Amino acid sequence: MIATILDGRAIGAEIKAELRGDIEKYVHEQGRPPGLVIVRVAGDTASGVYSKAILRVAEEIGLQARLDQLPTRISPDELRAILLQLNCDDSVQGIIVQMPLPGHLSQKMVVDTISPVKDIDGISPRSAGNLFLGLPSFLPATAAAVLEILERTQTPLEGKRAVIISRSNVVGKPLAMMLLQKNATVTVSHSRTVDLAGFTRQADVLVAAAGRANMITADMVRPGSMVIDVGINQLPGGGIVGDVDFAPVSEVAGALTPTPGGVGPLTNILLLKQCVQAAWQQVRDGKRALGEVKRL
Ligand code: NAP
Repeated sequence: MIATILDGRAIGAEIKAELRGDIEKYVHEQGRPPGLVIVRVAGDTASGVYSKAILRVAEEIGLQARLDQLPTRISPDELRAILLQLNCDDSVQGIIVQMPLPGHLSQKMVVDTISPVKDIDGISPRSAGNLFLGLPSFLPATAAAVLEILERTQTPLEGKRAVIISRSNVVGKPLAMMLLQKNATVTVSHSRTVDLAGFTRQADVLVAAAGRANMITADMVRPGSMVIDVGINQLPGGGIVGDVDFAPVSEVAGALTPTPGGVGPLTNILLLKQCVQAAWQQVRDGKRALGEVKRL
């Protein structure tokens, strides 16, 4: 094997240790930990597993998190009222609404309702707009996890060719903006891209997030490149693989994330990191607002 295998759990442990320290400081100053609420409208099994994983990591690092499980038949107005209430709740600094929602509930209503200051998964138009404009913003957690891996491994990005296989709102598009800001030359590819391998072979950094088991074969990878595998694919016979054909690609790439154990474990941690950042930002905003009131 040539490639360095990048252990997402080890990187995650580093970030968790940093977050524990930050949360202790927050508790010392504010008298309570930052609060996170996951809103889930009953149904999808994957989102249930995901919610439990977030709660587990939150408990590990000392963040106050709870799951608000809502009935499938909840009306749009009722869901909106719950979100508005969470927006105003001082004990809640971050809100996540698990997708997908049942058909009668619109994602647009949700993203328009969550307060941008509590939108820790970067789904609101304001977060997306800020990212597009190169302004500070909450980031979709999976894209943030990819950037965190690149930064923690000190992967050079400036002037490098990055190829992303995905144009989804949660991975491809936000990551393209993030890598552009790091001065990479970015290609965004998708299911209609002609000659995908022609692009991937040029990539210094290749991010595969198509959700297609083992689609990236060794001949599609530039020798010595950084390959980040975001895909999580359940095989018909059981077992989980990424989008990258791991063993052959590890003979060609310079570094590679495994699946499972690569990007996956970092996604939840990055979400919680943004909750802690949101909490500090709300403290700063509160102090600024108080200052303005005093000046009046
Ligand atoms: P998605 O919305 O379905 O997006 C998939 C993207 O890949 C689309 O842009 C699609 O192109 C493109 N694509 C599909 N097949 C392709 C092909 N053969 N060649 C080139 N591009 C192709 O999926 P998603 O929600 O972003 O998730 C993608 C994968 O990441 C899934 O396996 C998911 O489980 C995984 N994931 C992992 C994490 C994590 O924490 N590690 C988090 C989220 C998602 P079109 O736009 O043309 O359809």
